[in-house]
Amino acid sequence: MEITGETRLVALLGDPVGHSLSPRMHNTAFAHLGLNYVYLAFRSNEAELPAAVAALRALNAKGFNCTMPLKKAILPLLDDMSPAARMIGSVNTVTIEDGRLIGHNTDGTGFIHDLHNHGVEVKGTRILIVGAGGAARGLCVQLALDGAAEIVIANRSLEKAQSIRRLIASHIPACKVEAIQLSQGELAPRIAEADIFTNTTALGMHPHEEACVIPDSSLLRPSLVMTDLIYIPGKTVFLKLAEEAGCTAINGSGMLLWQGAEAFRIWTGQDMPVELVRKKVFPDN
Ligand code: NAP
Repeated sequence: MEITGETRLVALLGDPVGHSLSPRMHNTAFAHLGLNYVYLAFRSNEAELPAAVAALRALNAKGFNCTMPLKKAILPLLDDMSPAARMIGSVNTVTIEDGRLIGHNTDGTGFIHDLHNHGVEVKGTRILIVGAGGAARGLCVQLALDGAAEIVIANRSLEKAQSIRRLIASHIPACKVEAIQLSQGELAPRIAEADIFTNTTALGMHPHEEACVIPDSSLLRPSLVMTDLIYIPGKTVFLKLAEEAGCTAINGSGMLLWQGAEAFRIWTGQDMPVELVRKKVFPDN
């Protein structure tokens, strides 16, 4: 696409942003669909955020993504939020409509969209989630909103898992939710009962490539769907064990693509050409 006097800006704010795949994803999609937008990444820390947001508003940007460490810091600067983003308490996508900033969180919807893309239904399922950080919080809220029957959250710091448990129990009581300590003894019976087993910890990612939340594949069975939010490396130890046991193994690249596709739809009203973008961003995946 040629940049013209009508080109609208969409931005990424965060620190660091140099490694981000989002500019390539969105610019590929804008060009393919002939949309007159450009997506640029700007390094911005918490102290700089109010000035960065005021600039985007003044320049009539279409919207922006927020990444670490800004997903919570953006909240006081917003005029409104989607119900899910309000519940999760973090925002990764913002639209600017008539100068008003509206926040969304597309992590959970991106995760579930990718499950659907693999033929996995969430409604009525039992899900075991390891980790209770920002990503897990978004996933758990969206899974509960989308009708998961039961969510068990296992975390090293039990209090963080309990905080997500309390949030879901108070807002979405139809979903049974439990918080447990992350230990092999606690995990074993939960793995046996789960339909979907998800790693949201950084174990498996640089510099912990050899680490995994389970020691071997002995507790796994082929009917289990195992997902890892990590996408570099494309196959973590967690997913290698899943394949060894004949489970469905899904890495985080699809979630990344679909959370971007959801943001793209919020800004442009159009569907991102996800398969084309996948080939460009993850040529080996
Ligand atoms: P976060 O808020 O920092 O949470 C990290 C989680 O990992 C916490 O539950 C933490 O436990 C746990 N953890 C870290 N080191 C651990 C260890 N040595 N042993 C056991 N648990 C450990 O991070 P986040 O934003 O939730 O992101 C989590 C992962 O998801 C990252 O790998 C990130 O790259 C990935 N992610 C992927 C996508 C995607 O689109 N695919 C999107 C978002 C995030 P404690 O609470 O005990 O510290």
